Amino acid sequence: MIPPSDSGPHEKPQAKSDGADARERLRVKFGEGDYLVRALEAGDMRTLQEFFYSHNEETIRMRYGYPRKWMNDEDAYKLVTVDQEKDPALGIFQEVEGKQELRAIGRYYLDQGGKRAEIAFVVHEDTRHIGMAGFLIARLAEIAEPRGITEFWASVLPDNRTMAGLFVAVGGKAAKAALDEERTFEIGVDEVLKSRKKFLEEKKIETKEEIQRKTGIHYDSCYERHDTGEDHPESADRYRVLMAALEELPAEFVRLPGRMAKVSEVLRVHEYYYHDLVWRDVEEFAEQLRTGDTAICEESYEVALEASGAVLNAVDAVMAGEVSTAFCATRPPGHHATATRGMGFCIFNHVAIAARHLQEVHGLKRIAIIDWDVHHGNGTEDIFIEDPDVLYVSLHEHGYYPHTASDTQRGQGAGEGTNLNISLPEGSDGETALLAWSEKLEPEVNAFQPDFILISAGFDSRMDDPIGGLRWTDETFAEMTRRCIVLADRWCRGRIVSVLEGGYNPEGLASAAIAHVKALEAG
Ligand SMILES: [Zn+2]
Repeated sequence: MIPPSDSGPHEKPQAKSDGADARERLRVKFGEGDYLVRALEAGDMRTLQEFFYSHNEETIRMRYGYPRKWMNDEDAYKLVTVDQEKDPALGIFQEVEGKQELRAIGRYYLDQGGKRAEIAFVVHEDTRHIGMAGFLIARLAEIAEPRGITEFWASVLPDNRTMAGLFVAVGGKAAKAALDEERTFEIGVDEVLKSRKKFLEEKKIETKEEIQRKTGIHYDSCYERHDTGEDHPESADRYRVLMAALEELPAEFVRLPGRMAKVSEVLRVHEYYYHDLVWRDVEEFAEQLRTGDTAICEESYEVALEASGAVLNAVDAVMAGEVSTAFCATRPPGHHATATRGMGFCIFNHVAIAARHLQEVHGLKRIAIIDWDVHHGNGTEDIFIEDPDVLYVSLHEHGYYPHTASDTQRGQGAGEGTNLNISLPEGSDGETALLAWSEKLEPEVNAFQPDFILISAGFDSRMDDPIGGLRWTDETFAEMTRRCIVLADRWCRGRIVSVLEGGYNPEGLASAAIAHVKALEAG
């Protein structure tokens, strides 16, 4: 009945249910005030007691049916450390002089059968009539419903007309009782959920999940070891200029370490024989990968693994809540690499490897990949073309390398509808791109409802790039970043990992990447 708090190693955690998690934190506007709704925590014991003692005796008797002095240390501690997976206890807090003060609590206690639960609320006198109790019932119903609870019940003292009125308003029915007796209400959880929207609209209550925004960045001189030879656009020099700019960013940007990807992680995306081929080409001192136009040196296999690993590390940091967004300045790039073929300066497809890692290690289901490199990410498209759980959307210059982009390619088989190519005319500017973003890209991502957003961040779509023919500015990248954040906030708790792809004018690359990273941080 109650889902386990953590799944076993062989069982994928549920990616997304329609139900709410008691531990989610929500920012809620009641009337003119901003409040935080969250589960009670062990540190709330004193706050909880202060809340009780700030009420008059009458209120406590009426709401809880016992004198307020009963809220002693032991009882308060029991309530704040309750098992939220079984008997959730939520608080509505207001920040007063940097301290979180409790304004209302709502909880349910599961009955033995596991199908019914008793609900109880206490709202502070100062914040009555703005809908807190109604909000809490609805929130508890959202938590209860996926746990298989079908009915709430509550006892209401005869003089507590407000509470009785609320229970009736959310579909509750009272058992018959004499006028001066306690009445027991029974309230269908589905009834509460049905009336929820109307109630929130009437009381003008707005909610959004609280996102603690923090941005991680990753850069490392190890990537300079991938030597592509003289006069190659994808050079270590290009990287040095970018890294110097990133190093200048203040300490608020969390520096994320790298790690080398394991072969097993690469093999989630690439065929074994292709991985082996890369290794052998490097061992044999080849100057090019035999599968295509990708210059290599004797360090390239390792550096490519470092790049994939750093992206996985950034993904893990976001999933652990250490940061909400991250930018990985890695090379070689990845989006042209298919499961079986390196090309276009790419060896392993880091973004694709990250998508599979999110699904297999973190149990997420739907991953959206937004690719704004000037070139079409043929590798990423090819890898996920039949996958309904990975949305690939590419903005790129029309009719250009690698000549794989078709605006009518919407995916194949089960993946029909989860691929979108948006070709932009040569010489077009950021405005054209942003218009296409609103008209085509955004509706697609909204319909898909991703659990995580990955960005293939190429900056060769910027003006003055020696390879690209688009004329985007730094502001174009900043605006696209802000729009990604809006989407990520709406669908996936703000989770974004962005990975460097192209960008071959070193100064232009550095300045566009900095605009991107600053926008990631500012939200
Ligand atoms: Zn490119």
